[in-house]
Amino acid sequence: MNFALTEEQQMVQDMAKSFAEKEIAPYVEEDEENHYYRREILTKMGELGLLGWSIPEEYGGNGMGWMEGVIALYEIAKVHTSWRLGISGNCWGPAMTINEYGTPEQKEKYIPGLVSGEYVGSFAITEANSGSDVASMKCIAEDKGDHFVMNGSKMWISGGHTSDIGLVYAVTNPGAGAKGISCFIVDYNNTPGIERIPIHTKFGMWPAPTSELVFENAIIPKENLLGPLNGGFKICMWMLNNTRMGCATGAAALSAACLEGSIQYANERIQFGQPIGKFQMIQQQIAEMKLEDEAAKYLVYKAAWLKDNKLPSQQETSMAKLYACNAAVHAANLAMKIYGSYGYSTEYPCARWLRDAKQFETLEGTSNIHTMIVAGIELGYQPNR
Ligand SMILES: Cc1cc2nc3c(=O)[nH]c(=O)nc-3n(C[C@H](O)[C@H](O)[C@H](O)COP(=O)(O)OP(=O)(O)OC[C@H]3O[C@@H](n4cnc5c(N)ncnc54)[C@H](O)[C@@H]3O)c2cc1C
Repeated sequence: MNFALTEEQQMVQDMAKSFAEKEIAPYVEEDEENHYYRREILTKMGELGLLGWSIPEEYGGNGMGWMEGVIALYEIAKVHTSWRLGISGNCWGPAMTINEYGTPEQKEKYIPGLVSGEYVGSFAITEANSGSDVASMKCIAEDKGDHFVMNGSKMWISGGHTSDIGLVYAVTNPGAGAKGISCFIVDYNNTPGIERIPIHTKFGMWPAPTSELVFENAIIPKENLLGPLNGGFKICMWMLNNTRMGCATGAAALSAACLEGSIQYANERIQFGQPIGKFQMIQQQIAEMKLEDEAAKYLVYKAAWLKDNKLPSQQETSMAKLYACNAAVHAANLAMKIYGSYGYSTEYPCARWLRDAKQFETLEGTSNIHTMIVAGIELGYQPNR
């Protein structure tokens, strides 16, 4: 076992860190205040190869795998967690899923643009009345011979109104539950009958757009069916086992941001004639953050290693997501305490950290759902896939 990064991984880390500091950091507070999505950041990520992890080079992949991907995402999300979605929404979601289940034509048509940043990607599973219970979705795609007609709606879709290409899961065999769902590649710019409504009421992740999608007789060409008809539930679970790595890594990175900020503040802030970092109770908080951040990072690395080695990783992905999410929320809470009143003001990033940390308890499987996955596999009730 070797805990050191390889030379290549070190280079990836340095490159992602300098990209985040140069291209994301200068806009963090401005974009946060204006709830502004800066599309050009995704373009630049594509240009640098930051959207091409574990994608074959013939479709524009960068020739590197999961471990390098999580190392890069970690550096980006440490600066602003919203930008982890660039990698999940383009690479580990649509591009990787099309690569696994798509026809050669679909791969050629969609993957290069998702990996280069020409397209913004997204994936739509959730509906107003169907969240954790994915199989209860109602959005329907009726088979009309040479095309499908899609009707219904999706809710809370990251990048829903800013994306060019999205995977949309819909019912193709009503009443069959998980066995009646299919996955479709939707070209949002060229499909009439889709209304995309931005959601402005989010608690955090303000520069990362979220949307409601309404489908009204939207025509989806037959060749846009991804994988087998009625095979969408399996594809969805396969995809989530990949995109959840974006949440796990993003949460671990956020806990690291809270720790780094808190260390700096604890060393600068003087009370009772000394830096507050000298007080044992502050040290207790720093130690808790450090332990949890380190554990979260290595859970992420372990899941990435399993994926790189094509080994079952569902339980480890859920453990990484669940633990890192708890670490991020705890670290954000502690950071706000360590910063005192300044933590409660918008002058410092603590409020943003706390708002952004809370997302991880819900999206891509709530903490309850990941607890169930971890326990279910551990108890032998389901296999680790
Ligand atoms: C910022 C943001 C971005 C998102 N992006 C996307 C996206 O890009 N694409 C997409 O498809 N979706 C997206 N989502 C939706 C997200 O994945 C869902 O919100 C999530 O799956 C939970 O569904 P729900 O909100 O309907 O909660 P519910 O499923 O209604 O759960 C409510 C509560 O009940 C608990 N619960 C439910 N079932 C059980 C059970 N069996 N046992 C124990 N407890 C249970 C849950 O843990 C939770 O505490 C996003 C959400 C947010 C907030």
